[in-house]
Amino acid sequence: MAYEYCCAFCEYDGWLDGTVVGLDAAHVRWWAFDGPDDVANGLCLCAIHHKLFDKGVLGLTPDRTISVSAKFVGRTSAAKDVVLALAERPARPPQPGLAPVDAAHIEWHRRQVFRAPARSG
Ligand SMILES: [Zn+2]
Repeated sequence: MAYEYCCAFCEYDGWLDGTVVGLDAAHVRWWAFDGPDDVANGLCLCAIHHKLFDKGVLGLTPDRTISVSAKFVGRTSAAKDVVLALAERPARPPQPGLAPVDAAHIEWHRRQVFRAPARSG
């Protein structure tokens, strides 16, 4: 709800018979590593971006710009459009009045999950 049922990275949205389809509530700091279940530790991500965020292909900078790992290789136009094009784009913020992702959780993800270095552009 905080992200209006829209991927914070690519703005995908989709519905089937009135139910959101293909979108997840993703933890930034993993639940198994003491990540809280609150908006400041969450992002609404589509299924592919959730998977790539959890694998460290995608990350966030402290100012909530999307990082793409320089170690990621994708040669097709689909990989370019879906992944590489996100590099250095701002993530979609939550609705006004709701907490954006907390800097401490972003830092945890950058240290523990993201596969540095980030590619530029
Ligand atoms: Zn997405």
